[in-house]
Amino acid sequence: MFQDIAPHVFHNEFGRRPPVPSDYLVILDGRKILLSEDGKLPSVGDFGKICPQAVSDAFYLFSIDEAGFFFTHTPFPEKEGVPYRYQNIMVLRDMENSYLAFGAAVASQLGEWYTLHRYCGSCGVPTVHSDEERAIRCPKCGHLYYPRISPVVIIAIVDGDRLLLTRYNRSGYRRHALVAGFVEVGETLEEAVRRETMEEVGLKVKNIRYCESQPWPFSSSLIAGFFADVDGDPSVHLNTDGKDELSEGIWVKREDLEIEDNSVSLTWDMIRKFRDGLMPR
Ligand SMILES: [Zn+2]
Repeated sequence: MFQDIAPHVFHNEFGRRPPVPSDYLVILDGRKILLSEDGKLPSVGDFGKICPQAVSDAFYLFSIDEAGFFFTHTPFPEKEGVPYRYQNIMVLRDMENSYLAFGAAVASQLGEWYTLHRYCGSCGVPTVHSDEERAIRCPKCGHLYYPRISPVVIIAIVDGDRLLLTRYNRSGYRRHALVAGFVEVGETLEEAVRRETMEEVGLKVKNIRYCESQPWPFSSSLIAGFFADVDGDPSVHLNTDGKDELSEGIWVKREDLEIEDNSVSLTWDMIRKFRDGLMPR
């Protein structure tokens, strides 16, 4: 999956240090990230010659192996003759098996969080970075802001040897998926599983069991994957309201599942586990 970068090692414990030339620099423009033409992050050494201000303002996020990832708020307009272009951060998703793409995506998540918290949401004054932990502090009211992680549940709904596959109407994403949704305020993961399943496909489920999880930096999420058995009538009733409506919900027999074997997502890892009989019982 996307986060599986072994033998490389992700070091995300809080720390501070100045950048060195072999470190990487993350510069964002909204949901876009500055990358070289071959899809790599700028190195501190290379970019320091182009925009020294961006490097001198950069601060440490985390490391993969020895390479630090640094973020800078300094804006950098694309220029003729400079071999870097802004690209949608989702391009990182498809750089499969790339530990640098994982690092760039997580760095984008943190960079967006730092960008959105430059001012206190309560008093409006400029915030400061904590010296002790990955947090942002308001010097006036003392409010502490921590990185936001939004939990999501993905549900593989099983009826004997059949699995429920879905398809969403979202533009640009037409592959099969599983039922999924954000956890709402005040509910447990299991309650979110029951609610999302009823809302999206009109099914009751039982025997909800946890399978595995995945950090998903593109939506600042932590995804928890569950298997659940259909409880009673397996007839699918699609939710056709709202922007994330489903266009399809079909029961597929184990032997008929076509797997995207190279996919980086937890969805496809769970579908593969079902096909291979490796799901939790
Ligand atoms: Zn404040």
